[in-house]
Amino acid sequence: MTTAAIHVSDLHKSFGKNEVLKGIDFHVDPGQVVCVIGPSGSGKSTLLRCVNRLEEPSSGQILVEGIDITDPETDLDDVRTRIGMVFQQFNLFPHMTVLQNLCIAQRTVKRRSKKQAIEIARANLEKVGLAEKESAYPAHLSGGQQQRVAIARALSMDPDMMLFDEPTSALDPELVGDVLEIMKQLAAEGMTMMVVTHEMGFAREVGDKLVFMDGGVIVEEGDPRVVLADPKHERTKAFLAKVL
Ligand code: ADP
Ligand code: MG
Repeated sequence: MTTAAIHVSDLHKSFGKNEVLKGIDFHVDPGQVVCVIGPSGSGKSTLLRCVNRLEEPSSGQILVEGIDITDPETDLDDVRTRIGMVFQQFNLFPHMTVLQNLCIAQRTVKRRSKKQAIEIARANLEKVGLAEKESAYPAHLSGGQQQRVAIARALSMDPDMMLFDEPTSALDPELVGDVLEIMKQLAAEGMTMMVVTHEMGFAREVGDKLVFMDGGVIVEEGDPRVVLADPKHERTKAFLAKVL
């Protein structure tokens, strides 16, 4: 049996009296692409943020490559270096060039030499099709280019898996395709991915599993092609009727 990349059991998370995750169980196998869909406020971002401990779970267990990240003894910094995260709002450092954005964590967290960091950064910029933008500042790039830089930055840390939280939701429609194309390429290379998205076409084409969340629980999950074409639960049907 292979160890799951991510294994979540009975995860609960409350903010004060507001219970946002009400007992979540799921796993992501190495190399799998799991897409998470669901209405706004259903707890998708909170779930993703719990997986790399940007949020502290209230109870339950999360294993990342077999390591219990809810155990106080666990070295979270070590676990986090294995997990790349891409947000809706890119989160690039505005006062740094593209190349500097890609090098900073490599230098401070991975302790790479400047030369090695630059080499890796350039390879990843090449990969997302932005080699010629290394000296640009984020403000001079389109949203789609900024998001591709954010992906290249995450990849420069050599993560074992990538978490994407609505990576294309802030983009003008004509820029969405380029970002999805990069993600598709990553998936084809075998990257383990958890993707919160409203892009049903991506989920159908690239996803190995689709998870539908509503009200802090997983209502339905399965093969994306099956769930999208033939949802079993009323809540899934109602949601898909609105977005498809
Ligand atoms: P989604 O990503 O599915 O839209 P979220 O996980 O962002 O949902 O939010 C789920 C619920 O948790 C919302 O009601 C939101 O207000 C609440 N929430 C999220 N983060 C926080 C926080 N840091 N403090 C308090 N409430 C939060
Ligand atoms: Mg969200």
